[in-house]
Amino acid sequence: MTTTPPARPVPEALAGLPGFTRDPAELERVRTDRSGYVPPTRPAGLVRARTVEDVVRTLRAAHEHRVPVVPRGAGTGLAAGASAREGEIVLDLHRMNRILRIDPVEQIAVVEPGVLNADLNAAAAEHGLFYAPDPASTSICSVGGNIATNAGGMRCAKYGVTREAVLALTVVLADGRVLTTGAGTVKAVTGYDLKALFTGSEGTLGVVVEAVLRLRPAPVATATVAAWFRDVGSAAAAASAVIAARATPSVLELVDGPTLGAIDLATGSAHRSRGEAFLLAQTDGFGAELERDVVLRAIEPFAESVLVADDPAEAEALVQARRSAIPSLEALGRVSIGDVGVPRHRLAEMVTGLRRIAEETGVEICTVAHAADGNLHPMIVVDRDEPITEGPPKLALGRMFELARSLGGTLTGEHGVGLLKQDWFTAEVGELSREVQHRIKQALDPHGILNPGKAV
Ligand SMILES: Cc1cc2nc3c(=O)[nH]c(=O)nc-3n(C[C@H](O)[C@H](O)[C@H](O)COP(=O)(O)OP(=O)(O)OC[C@H]3O[C@@H](n4cnc5c(N)ncnc54)[C@H](O)[C@@H]3O)c2cc1C
Repeated sequence: MTTTPPARPVPEALAGLPGFTRDPAELERVRTDRSGYVPPTRPAGLVRARTVEDVVRTLRAAHEHRVPVVPRGAGTGLAAGASAREGEIVLDLHRMNRILRIDPVEQIAVVEPGVLNADLNAAAAEHGLFYAPDPASTSICSVGGNIATNAGGMRCAKYGVTREAVLALTVVLADGRVLTTGAGTVKAVTGYDLKALFTGSEGTLGVVVEAVLRLRPAPVATATVAAWFRDVGSAAAAASAVIAARATPSVLELVDGPTLGAIDLATGSAHRSRGEAFLLAQTDGFGAELERDVVLRAIEPFAESVLVADDPAEAEALVQARRSAIPSLEALGRVSIGDVGVPRHRLAEMVTGLRRIAEETGVEICTVAHAADGNLHPMIVVDRDEPITEGPPKLALGRMFELARSLGGTLTGEHGVGLLKQDWFTAEVGELSREVQHRIKQALDPHGILNPGKAV
């Protein structure tokens, strides 16, 4: 339904806006995100928004002149959601980056969309609080982008994804009207839950310009366990055993052998010499050590070696090793990062299936996983000049999605559909759900100007 309108000159109502530019270097910067997909053309222009009024004026003009607009946070997305094509205007929100208020009593933060996730966490830490959704990209991704993608991260298994942290939103609609939804209270059920609808809508229903977010008390204690395994299937089985033992780790991250090799190469560590897969678990809160022992007992039967990291510096180094997985692979080539999800007891079937797909398609697939969520990141690594959206990489991608779905899973657990997963969207949601979603889009954006061709 949402087709890209044909390219035409940018109307003066947009080109005359204060933050508008056609600077080629800037247009190149905002052409795509970190998905590995590069659109064949550059966008028609860029508006650098600094205020809500900038966003209002941009959308009002775009709506009137039927110009497609691509909202953009920090451009770290992995589904080509912020990639912009010919005739499209990028609405860059990264300069709207003020933390407007932190209320330590109510444990909420009020922020503009361009605030970096890590900056919000640093500000919350000054009050003994933290913001739970923590993508591995925490230091480079914006909270607005997190909301638009309903981002997850390492500690979401215990604390929930972005949706669980969003209490209220201010959103500029496609026609420039400003809507506020939700409340600054922990509970609020008046009317339909529009904030949940906008969360994860990938910039296709409105532009988030302010958010009230839930903060949480920083855990009083954290306990860390690392384990190395002879193969990735054993590590996945151990992760499933942790869940079956009814532990709720705040972190349960799996890294396979090829990814460990890339981390070792990039950081000088020696993880791969200890095993062909790695599992990192953290428990936190008042019973952190008690719960760590439950995790330990669940993991030990499957592991080659286990380490209880009592030293906080050692624990942090292990967390950093996991965080460095994607940059380490990106140092080797162009990387397409999937984010399929499966029921947690089927992790081992998924990781062994991924190995089969790699062998059968001849495509290199490295995998990390937020194991406690059943959310895997199979990463296809190709040469820098090789496309990821055609040939064997596309075949491998399709096979991955089919495998995840055949195990009762989903094609995207946290990155969103963007442009990259369009081909498989209807197969997962079904015709009726697709139709309902398109009707919602039509109601909020009748001219289809907001991020056309993405998400639904
Ligand atoms: C190294 C690395 C690690 C990562 N790890 C994780 C991870 O662990 N978990 C995870 O979930 N993701 C992860 N990501 C992906 C990415 O960081 C997230 O998807 C993040 O939420 C994107 O935020 P952004 O500000 O970069 O958004 P962008 O890439 O700029 O945009 C993403 C989408 O949001 C829309 N959008 C952006 N801002 C707004 C707004 N204010 N209003 C409306 N729409 C908007 C865009 O149109 C686009 O559709 C990782 C990425 C990298 C590079």
